Amino acid sequence: MSKTPSSLREHLDDFIADTLSRCTRCGKCFEACPMTRYSDGLSNAEPGAVVSGVLDWLTQTPGNAESVAWLKVCTQSSRCIDACPEGINAMKMVRVGQMSAMGSLGVPAEQTALSGRDAKDFFRVINAFAETQMSAEEIARWQR
Ligand code: SF4
Repeated sequence: MSKTPSSLREHLDDFIADTLSRCTRCGKCFEACPMTRYSDGLSNAEPGAVVSGVLDWLTQTPGNAESVAWLKVCTQSSRCIDACPEGINAMKMVRVGQMSAMGSLGVPAEQTALSGRDAKDFFRVINAFAETQMSAEEIARWQR
């Protein structure tokens, strides 16, 4: 039986460790994203490299410019969730990446890449916290 996280941070750490151990960097989540066409910074992006950059953020290491561009355009379509062959909640991966790029997980302020404005508004952060408590099925039901 899996243990119940005792805190939000523990939950996030568990999610990050699980994602890092299972993600193959295939890039299918990125390819499924309907928003990438709206970012000039993603026109020639290699999907696996973009995901690698997001995973860097999950380890509190600044990711590449392409990963930041993807973090900026996410609108929570959730198509990335269904696209992942490993069953990873890729939307949550992006959300945690946003949190890290904003400095919420320990990245020093001078190395952050997103401001609250970039992440649209404070409520995205609220959503991120809510999503950490929900399964992919619950998120889909909630968004409907
Ligand atoms: S689709 Fe899944 S396994 Fe592939 S890069 Fe995205 S999160 Fe990783």
